[in-house]
Parts: sequence; structure tokens; C-alpha cells
Amino acid sequence: MKKALIIGSGLGGLSTALRLAKKGYKVTILEKHSTPGGRMNVIEMNGYKFDMGPSFMSMTYELDELFGSIGKKVPVTLEELDPLYQVFFEGKDKPRKIYKDLKKLEDEFADLEPNLAEKVDQYLTRAGQFFHDTEDKVVKSNFNNKLEYVLKLSRVPLKHLPYLFKTMWGEVDKTFKSEEVKIIFSLVAFFLGATPFNTPAIYSLLNYTEMRHNGYWKVRGGMYKLVEEIMKILNEFGVEVHYNTEIVSIGNNNGRLYQVVDQNGKTWEADIFISNSDAASFRGQILGRKNYSEDKLDKMHWTLAPFTVYLGVKGKMDRLMHHNYFLGSNFKGYADTIFTSSISPQKPYYYVNVLSKSDPETAPDGCENLFILCPVPDLRYKKDWSDKEELAQNIIDDLSARVGYDISSNIEVKKILAPDDWAKTLNLYKGSGLGLAHDIDQVGAFRPKNKDEVFNNLYYVGASTTPGTGLPMVIISSRLVTERIEVDHASAV
Ligand SMILES: Cc1cc2nc3c(=O)[nH]c(=O)nc-3n(C[C@H](O)[C@H](O)[C@H](O)COP(=O)(O)OP(=O)(O)OC[C@H]3O[C@@H](n4cnc5c(N)ncnc54)[C@H](O)[C@@H]3O)c2cc1C
Repeated sequence: MKKALIIGSGLGGLSTALRLAKKGYKVTILEKHSTPGGRMNVIEMNGYKFDMGPSFMSMTYELDELFGSIGKKVPVTLEELDPLYQVFFEGKDKPRKIYKDLKKLEDEFADLEPNLAEKVDQYLTRAGQFFHDTEDKVVKSNFNNKLEYVLKLSRVPLKHLPYLFKTMWGEVDKTFKSEEVKIIFSLVAFFLGATPFNTPAIYSLLNYTEMRHNGYWKVRGGMYKLVEEIMKILNEFGVEVHYNTEIVSIGNNNGRLYQVVDQNGKTWEADIFISNSDAASFRGQILGRKNYSEDKLDKMHWTLAPFTVYLGVKGKMDRLMHHNYFLGSNFKGYADTIFTSSISPQKPYYYVNVLSKSDPETAPDGCENLFILCPVPDLRYKKDWSDKEELAQNIIDDLSARVGYDISSNIEVKKILAPDDWAKTLNLYKGSGLGLAHDIDQVGAFRPKNKDEVFNNLYYVGASTTPGTGLPMVIISSRLVTERIEVDHASAV
């Protein structure tokens, strides 16, 4: 039986473990943190439960594929969000609700954007054609080299070419009249950890996935249930997991990796190694590759860092739904400076998730659990986060005023994670929340490959390798890397 060793237990690592164990590999997972799940983790404090990172997913059919491939049904209950979310604009009392149903959406924006349903329909039809023309050919494919990638791209119909030369903002600006509607349709750029002003228009396909194709889904009881269920299956498959075990160096022999070494000097041997640690920084920091030196890593484009606040609050906040966005009045100015500022945002834009709205058992009776996420500059630009309490209070005060509820006096539990905490806890490079960004020169064959350049038994899975970041993408990544391993190593025995 061949031994496969997976470094990291994010969703990418866990999905790969499921697939390889089912194929007969003897799988071991080594995880730096004390719990599995990576960014998809959980925080529990005095009867309050919070999803630490992801709060929804799209393209849920990737879960069907993953569990189908190991002969199981999806082990959690998925619930579609309707409305998808609501957006609070500064200075406007009424939040705007975003519906998949275009008639309802048009009614919601009747005072701002005439004929919205027709405009959205055309916008989504265009984005949908691009999505379906690239999903299988490009997103769900392995490439052996750049030429192969370019050849695959050349099979994408030419009518999509203008998408490559426009920004997402350019696309929404062309389609809609109202500033609010433009902003709402461009918010998905932040899911890529970027801004609509530097994100190519191709990613309007995310609007299509959220609003027409599959929608937004949450897991009943919280996203972490998915990790808990996967752990049960891995246990049934005999997969070993070792926590508090960080790989810090390797041992190699004639082009073949034969062991990795943890922080205590213990060595771990295997036939095949899969790194779920960041595919770019692992190459630089653990393998010492010159192309991924700190200097070179710093010059790459990384997604925004998360500043997150977890609050258990006494009382119910009726103005909040499951997903809520709070925006200021200077969208372009904010987006332009957010990446590179060395000070905390003074008027932050942020997202609030309230799990207790749909899963009341995740907070004590009559209370709410608030997860606040504010995109901020990573540690390359702002190293010192000793002002984190101040920034959190700034957000809490703003939120209190906008929902008309005195949050500060009702806080029962509070935890803040600044970019330096995210970096330390999960080895996220300089605290970047979603890994490498998705500029045209950092996707497909230009993204760090899922197979190592030197060792023919070392592979990568997760957000910074192909195809990219987000829960459905890292599940696809696990399928792509498993296919590579199968081609290279024929069988598990
Ligand atoms: C705040 C936040 C909110 C998000 N919200 C959403 C959302 O709503 N929907 C969505 O689809 N996506 C969301 N994402 C993105 C999503 O969480 C990620 O794309 C995905 O979880 C990445 O999974 P992964 O397997 O690549 O890596 P990770 O989850 O980062 O897992 C990697 C694991 O490897 C471990 N590790 C690293 N280095 C080592 C080492 N040297 N030795 C041992 N172990 C190591 C880490 O501790 C970690 O557990 C969010 C991300 C963040 C940060």
C-alpha cells in the first residue's frame, strides 16, 4: 500500500485525503493547528459558536462530485440563502436586499435603476456563457505547460475576448446607471480578495454563479459541520491525523522527496507528499526555491488580508440578516487605497454574518453571534496591528449606529483576529486571506502548479495552486491533484 502524506488539513487537504484514501492509499495528515479545517474553522466561546472563515459557498455540485467519488452522499444539509444578502449604504436608512428572482430585484431597486431585470438578465447571460465556455476547458483542467494552457484558452470562443481587457468595474459601469447597483454587482471582486477596479471583467462569472447558476448556500448548523463530517469519514477510512505538527524542512534524495521534518525534528516518510500549505510560500520558505524567495513572493499579487471580529451579543438585532454588507460613501477611493495603506481604515467597509439568524442553536437563547469581516492591507503594508482593539471598536460603533442597537453594552464574548493572527495560526502568507490573487498572469498555467518542478512525488492542493481560491475551487483542486497523482503513479499499491 503506497503511503501519502498530506501537509495541512484545509478543505483542499481533507478532500484530497478522502479521494486518496478511497483509492487505497495509506493517508496521513500533518496539521500545524490544533484542529482540522484550516480557514474553514470554528471558534466556540461560552455557548456561542462562530464559523471562523467561510460563511457560505456556491457551486455546491462540487460537494456532490466529491462525496459521490467516494461512494457517499453529501453528509450535511445545505440551505440556500434567499435573499442572498443585504447591503447598507452609508447615509441611507433602507438596506437593499439582493434577490435571485429578477422581478423581486427590480422592485427592490425601482427608485434607482429602471428596467433592472432586463439589464441583469443580459449581464448574467453574457457572464453565464463565459462561465460555461471556460468551466470545463480551463478551470477544471490540468495543464502540463504554458503552451497546453494557451491552446486550451484558444478554444474559448473569441467573443469573450473583450472580458480580458476590461475591469469588473468597467463591465458594471457599462451595464448599469445607478452607482448603488454598480457597487453591488462589483462586490464579488472582494470574494476574490481584490477590488473591482483591479479585477478583470471575466470574474463577473461570479455574479452568474451567485445569482443564476447555483446561488449561495450555507450548511445547517454552521459551515464547520462539513469539516466534522469529513473527519468522521476519514476516521472510517483509517486516515491518521496529527495536530500541532508543523513541517519546517525536508529531506531529499536524488530528485525524490523521501521525508519531511516537523518543528520538533521528527521525520515523516511517505511515497507521495501533498502540500496543502500555501503552494507559493511553501516552495519559498520550506523548499528554499529562488523563484519564491521572500523578495519574489512580496512582488506577487496577494489577496486582501482579513480583519475579523467574533461577538456574542445579548439581545436580537432585527435589522440584520444572515449576510450583510456595510459600505461607506467613497467606494472608489476606499478600494484604491485599501491594498497599500499602512494605517487601519478610518471608515471601514465590512461584512457581517449572523449565524444565529438561521441556526439559533449556535448562540444562547435571545442572543446573536456576529462574525465581522473587514478586508485590510496585508503585513507587507501594515506590519503592526497593535491598534486592533481600536479598529474593532470603530467597526462596532459604526455597526451599532447603523442597526440602531447598543452592541458595546451587550457584548458577552469577543475575539479579534488581525492579519498577523491569521498569518501565525494558519501560515497564510503575510496574512493574505485568500492566497494568491487571480490576475490573468496568476491563473491557469501561470499559477504555482499542483505538481512540483523538482520532486516527482510532491504535489500541491489548495487556494494558491490551480484553479484558485474559495471552497468549490479547492475541492476542484483536490480532484485535479488526485488525477495527476494517478497518472504519475499508476496505482495506490
Ligand atoms: C475570513 C475568510 C472568509 C472566507 N469566506 C469564504 C466564503 O464565505 N466562501 C468561500 O467559498 N471561501 C471563503 N474563504 C476562502 C476559503 O476559506 C479558502 O479558499 C479555503 O478554505 C482554502 O482552503 P485550503 O485547503 O487551500 O487552505 P487552508 O484552509 O488555509 O488550509 C491549509 C492548512 O494547512 C496548514 N498548514 C500550513 N502550513 C503548514 C505546515 N508547514 N505544516 C503543517 N500544516 C500546515 C494550516 O494550518 C491549514 O490548516 C474565506 C477565507 C477567509 C480567510
